[in-house]
Amino acid sequence: MKSYRKELSFNVPTRRAFINITPQVEQCLAESGIKEGLILVNPMHITASVFINDDESGLHQDYDEWLERVAPHEPVSQYRHNVGEDNADAHMKRQVMGREAVVAVTEGKLDFGTWERIFYGEFDGRRKKRVLVKIIGE
Ligand code: ZN
Repeated sequence: MKSYRKELSFNVPTRRAFINITPQVEQCLAESGIKEGLILVNPMHITASVFINDDESGLHQDYDEWLERVAPHEPVSQYRHNVGEDNADAHMKRQVMGREAVVAVTEGKLDFGTWERIFYGEFDGRRKKRVLVKIIGE
């Protein structure tokens, strides 16, 4: 069995963003040379998500507005976590949107449904963050 590991890095200029990272993950898969196996993608941070959904800007705006209703950023004083920091909402948004994506690799490709793409969800940006890509298989 082969294994491959790489860290991607992102420095999002805004507090929140959704980024399609499918091309970077496909590049990792090509570098790995693995044709059959599994790929795991997860942020190495607790205020960001990796998830799979549709690359559609209206949907991403809907997510952002929905997440703001579930866990509004302001007022920051409403959260017990926000003593010396202001990112309690980001921890909660990450919890809702999930930690990782796992995708099957078949014949050297991500074995996706028609509209599936991999996204990095940032909820406390404006600093460098890492995303782990781990691929196992042969
Ligand atoms: Zn925090």
